[in-house]
Amino acid sequence: MSVPSRSVGQRVQIAPIGGFAPDLLGAVADMVARIFGLDVRTAPLIDEIGFAYDTERKQYHSTAILDHLSAAAPADCFKVLAVTREDLFIPILTHVYGEAQLGGSCCVVSTQRLGEGLSKVTDRSAYLERVAKEAAHELGHTFDLRHCRDASCLMHYCRNVSDVDRKRADLCRYCQVMMGDHLTKAAKQRTGRPLEPQLDRIQCR
Ligand SMILES: [Zn+2]
Ligand SMILES: [Zn+2]
Repeated sequence: MSVPSRSVGQRVQIAPIGGFAPDLLGAVADMVARIFGLDVRTAPLIDEIGFAYDTERKQYHSTAILDHLSAAAPADCFKVLAVTREDLFIPILTHVYGEAQLGGSCCVVSTQRLGEGLSKVTDRSAYLERVAKEAAHELGHTFDLRHCRDASCLMHYCRNVSDVDRKRADLCRYCQVMMGDHLTKAAKQRTGRPLEPQLDRIQCR
């Protein structure tokens, strides 16, 4: 059986699941473009995630969404970042902000819990900053970045929204170097990149 392959472009697709305000998608796209230096396209990829819904928990299983994204990812896309407003979980945790394929192609972030403690009216920019940071964090995992010890680094593991507010909207120098290594490796594989559905996954909450 041949291995399915996709060419390595330098493009990230931001894939909203359901409708989002343009300023939210714009904030995510701007941060992704600035931090990763890649072309960004915003376009839906999957439009519903009912298949991942757990009727007992009344939440969506993020790993099932990743599998679906992997199968749906277009050939010309290097990375896919899905954005949902639904609450995500994995079986061992009450919730996750997101989940990603470590060093793979796909990740998903949820906006559901990122508005905690903020006013919808007056704190819009703080909310957008949290969403963009957590989106870029999940995407960082697909560049093979692990959780970083530096509490001010974008790749720091956040237990709550205060942790998200505390970290900067930037990678530390160490994570920047690691990201560069991943891009170099990916460029060497330019002739074809295997889809890797069995990659390690990393969950963030
Ligand atoms: Zn770091
Ligand atoms: Zn993480």
